[in-house]
Amino acid sequence: MHQAMRPVIRPVIQRVTRKLSLLLAAGGLAAALALAGCAQSPATGRNIFTGGLSAEDEVKLGREQHPEIVREFGGEYDDPQLRAYVDSLGRLLAQTSELPNLDWHFTVLDTPVVNAFALPGGYVYVTRGLLALADNEAELAGVLAHEIGHVTARHSAERYGQSVLGSAAALGVGVLLGSQAAAEATSGAAQLAVLSYSRDQEFEADTLGVRYLARTGHDPEAMATFLRRLLGHSRYEAELAGRPEAADAFDITQTHPRTADRVERAIQQAGGRRVADPIVDRDLYLDKIDGLVFGDSPAQGFVRGRSFLHPDLGFAFEVPEGFQLANTPKRVLAQNPNGAIIEFDTAVTSSRGSMTRYLAEDWGGGVDLNDIQALDVNGLEAATAWTRLDTRQGKADFRLVAIRLDGAIYRFLFVTPAELTTSMSASLRRTTYSFRPLSAQDADDLRPYRIDIYRVQSGDTPTGIARRMPLGAESLGQFQVLNGLRQGDPLIAGQRVKTVTE
Ligand SMILES: [Zn+2]
Repeated sequence: MHQAMRPVIRPVIQRVTRKLSLLLAAGGLAAALALAGCAQSPATGRNIFTGGLSAEDEVKLGREQHPEIVREFGGEYDDPQLRAYVDSLGRLLAQTSELPNLDWHFTVLDTPVVNAFALPGGYVYVTRGLLALADNEAELAGVLAHEIGHVTARHSAERYGQSVLGSAAALGVGVLLGSQAAAEATSGAAQLAVLSYSRDQEFEADTLGVRYLARTGHDPEAMATFLRRLLGHSRYEAELAGRPEAADAFDITQTHPRTADRVERAIQQAGGRRVADPIVDRDLYLDKIDGLVFGDSPAQGFVRGRSFLHPDLGFAFEVPEGFQLANTPKRVLAQNPNGAIIEFDTAVTSSRGSMTRYLAEDWGGGVDLNDIQALDVNGLEAATAWTRLDTRQGKADFRLVAIRLDGAIYRFLFVTPAELTTSMSASLRRTTYSFRPLSAQDADDLRPYRIDIYRVQSGDTPTGIARRMPLGAESLGQFQVLNGLRQGDPLIAGQRVKTVTE
């Protein structure tokens, strides 16, 4: 969760409204681009529909959307050396492409989500979550080359054209169906950037990527090895059942639907492994990511078991037993298996009136709120109220809690299926009253987890190394995923592996 967040009011109603306004904006865009046309891809020579975007428009679009992407995905990762390394590798590859003179930008995003994507005009993004997962320079080069391929084949521009039409269509449908369909459609710059490519586009980007890798001397097979690593990661994420972040976090398997055999086919079609003595550069790469932040950063707040602690904003709270916490850029979500949800975020305004007024007029304005009352939460001014709404899953109770701390307003939204509200109310109330300011000392003591490169000693086992990691029950799984190890794979003395330290 970041300091600057968009307003998120009554989740069901408000998200629909927000999406609708985005769709309306896209609809206007569609009208403006009524003369939408085709253009040729410089890399493939194929005619593509770009919604009327010229090459200059693409650059302009990328430049305009870039700050929003950076904002939406955690900001730039604050490590000048690592940033310079990724940028120089990206530029090296881009210079071998069909668009060497484009003003390429390679940005490392400060988010644990594993993702990579590109905007039209040469803006390419990788997350630090992806950097932690990659095992050598060739694998990172493979990801960057693939993204460069999407840009040179003008896929992002093509997708932009299609999404303009798609959104306009969704708008029509949404109005007819009372917004349900519109709520599920996506638009807006950030959403656009992380929309899924088609399988044909993926194949084309892989083929182009192999071409660029061959030209810089990197091992094209690294595209396939990284993909296998990625599948291990996705499988493990799915295994951590009940994690709600999938709702908010788009990962690379969603933005780039690829399979290992299709990647292999792209490598073969592009001439296979033509590079003699290809660059893999594992040691160099591991040195670069040694010390990389793993998981959440202090600016995003930490999930530690059932606690959420935000050293930069200076507060903490706990969720009840049975709830799984997930930190996303805009909010903290907790969910339990019986369908109850806790959503926590910051109000966009710092209302100067009372908390009860804020609740009644700003946050809950337009809904019939019951029992609006003032609260004292560990000496902080707060207010609460509730309402019952129909949702897709049936009737649900929405308990709103607003708490003022240091001029900001923090908000809990407790959503319980109506039949469970009574039995859950005591434990959810404990969550409200667990909200407390952190002392400067406590905040100072909170450190992010970091990647630590370790040289395996004889006698080391995955379980033994994992036991020294601070990730609790996830330690072994994360160790295996980070190192691409399967259950029972042995470690070799002298081998370097990624571990996580506090
Ligand atoms: Zn792709």
